[in-house]
Amino acid sequence: MSYSLSIRRVAILGGGISGLTAAYALARAREAGAPIEEFLIEGSQRLGGVIQTEHVDGFIVEGGPDSFISEKPEAAELCRELGLGDSLMGSNDTGRRTYILHKGKLEPLPNGLMMLVPTHMWPLMNSALLPFGSKVGILAEWFSKPRAPGKADESVASFVRRHFGSAMLDNIVEPLLAGVYGGDSASLSVTSVLPRFVEMERVYGSLVRAGIGAGRTRSRVSKGSKAPAKPEIKSLFMTLKGGLGQLITAIEGRLDPARVHLGRRVIGIERVSSNWRGPYRISCEGSVNYDVDAVVLALPAHECAKFLPTLHPGLAKSFDAIPYSSAVTVTLGFDPGVAELPPGFGFLVPKKENRQLLACTFVHRKFRDRVPEGKAMLRCFLGGARDPEVLQHSDEEILKSVWRELCSILILHDEPLFWRISRWPSAMAQYTVGHQDRVDRIMGQLGGFPRLFPAGNAYSGIGLSDCIRTARNAVKQVLEM
Ligand SMILES: Cc1cc2nc3c(=O)[nH]c(=O)nc-3n(C[C@H](O)[C@H](O)[C@H](O)COP(=O)(O)OP(=O)(O)OC[C@H]3O[C@@H](n4cnc5c(N)ncnc54)[C@H](O)[C@@H]3O)c2cc1C
Repeated sequence: MSYSLSIRRVAILGGGISGLTAAYALARAREAGAPIEEFLIEGSQRLGGVIQTEHVDGFIVEGGPDSFISEKPEAAELCRELGLGDSLMGSNDTGRRTYILHKGKLEPLPNGLMMLVPTHMWPLMNSALLPFGSKVGILAEWFSKPRAPGKADESVASFVRRHFGSAMLDNIVEPLLAGVYGGDSASLSVTSVLPRFVEMERVYGSLVRAGIGAGRTRSRVSKGSKAPAKPEIKSLFMTLKGGLGQLITAIEGRLDPARVHLGRRVIGIERVSSNWRGPYRISCEGSVNYDVDAVVLALPAHECAKFLPTLHPGLAKSFDAIPYSSAVTVTLGFDPGVAELPPGFGFLVPKKENRQLLACTFVHRKFRDRVPEGKAMLRCFLGGARDPEVLQHSDEEILKSVWRELCSILILHDEPLFWRISRWPSAMAQYTVGHQDRVDRIMGQLGGFPRLFPAGNAYSGIGLSDCIRTARNAVKQVLEM
C-alpha cells in the first residue's frame, strides 16, 4: 500500500475488544511505515470493556464473554496473530448437551437442532419439550412453499410461529435467543438475527426440508470421507486457556502506553474548521481535547449518540435508535461433591417458567482446566430484554434469588465457596425489527462525515469475531484515507 506523506492523527474511542483491535492494527500499520499517530481514548480506568477475567484460587471467572464461536474465524485469527495460538482451546464438545427448563424439570434440547431447524426428525419427535399437536405441525411444515422475495422484515417470534407454532417458539427458540442475545423474540429481527433461515425459506419454503437435506448431506460427506468411523466433533466454542483476559493483556502489551489514554470519557466532538472532511476536536471530561483527522467510534451506539448532537443531531438520533439490553452474570464456585449436575454444558430458562435466571452454564464441563481439580463452577445469566430491572437490585438480592432458583432446579448440597457478580448496563445491542434500515441510515449519514468510522456490536453481529471484523474494516478505511 502507498501512503500520502502528511501524518494523520487518529483517535480510537473505546477500549473494548473493538477499540483494542483497531488500536493494534493501526499501531502495526504505523510500525510498517504508515504516517499515522493513533490514540486510544477510554473512559474507564481499564481496558477490555465487557471482557473481564478474574482468577480466584485457581478458578477462572469470566464476568463477561467466556468464549467465541469457532464458525467465525476473526477472534481465533487475532489470538494467533498475537502469539496466543498455543493457548487456544475448544469447548469440550463430547459432553455437549444443553437442557431447557420445562415445567420445573430439565429436559434435554433435542439433538440435531440447528437453532430452530431440525436436521434429524427423530430426536425432536421424541422430545418432551413439545406437545403432540406441535410435532404434527412441524411434520406438516415439510410442505411449505418458498416465500416470495422482498417481504418486509418480521420478528423472530412471528417467523417461528409461521413455521413451527407457539410451542417451538416458547419452549425452544425463545430461551435460546434470550441466552445468546439477551433478546426478546417478539422484537428481534429475523432478517438480522437469523438470516440463514430467511434464506432457507426463500429457497426451499420448508425449513424442515432444508434442514433434513443439510443433515443428510453432512452424514453422506462423513460416510464418504476416509476419516475414522467416529466422526470428528468440531468444537462449537473456543476460548483461551487463561481466559479471554489473556487476549486483552496481549493486545495491551503490543500498544505504546503513551498512546493509551485511560480515564478520558468522551463528551463532545466538533469540526475544527469548516472543511467537511474534518479535522475533528474530541473533548473529554476534565477539559482534555484531541484534534484529529479521523475517528474510530468503537463505543456502544447509545454512547456515540450522547456526544454526536453537536456535529449532527440527526446522526446522533440514528445511533440512539439502536436499542441495547443489560446483562448480569453471577458465577459460583463449588467444592467437589457439592453439586450433582446432569451431564452437559448447562440449561436455558424459557420466559414462561417465570424465573429470574435466563441461563446457567456448567463452566467446568464446557471447558477443561477452568477450575481446580474436581471442583465445579456455575455461571448464571440474568437481565436481558426480559428483566431490565435486575440492575437495580443489590448484590445480596441477586445472589439470594439466583441461589433459590438454582436450588429448585439442581441438587446442591452446600453453599458456594465464592461468588462474583458482574453488571453490564446497556451492553448488548438488540437487532430489533427494521435493524438493517437503521444501520443503513447511520451509514448513509456518515457519508457526510467521511472520517468517522464505526466499529462494535451495534451493526452486523454482536459476537467477539463480529466486533473484531468491524474494527478491522474501520482501520482499512482509515488507511485508505
Ligand atoms: C455478559 C456478556 C456475555 C457475552 N458473551 C459473549 C460470548 O461468550 N461470546 C461472544 O462472542 N460475545 C459475547 N458477548 C458479546 C461481546 O462480548 C461484545 O459484543 C463485545 O465484547 C463488545 O465489545 P466492544 O469493544 O464493541 O464494546 P465494549 O466491550 O462495551 O467496550 C466499549 C468501551 O468503551 C468505553 N466507553 C463507553 N463510553 C465511553 C465514552 N463516552 N468515552 C470513552 N470511552 C467510553 C467503555 O468503558 C468500554 O471500555 C457477551 C456480552 C456480554 C455483555
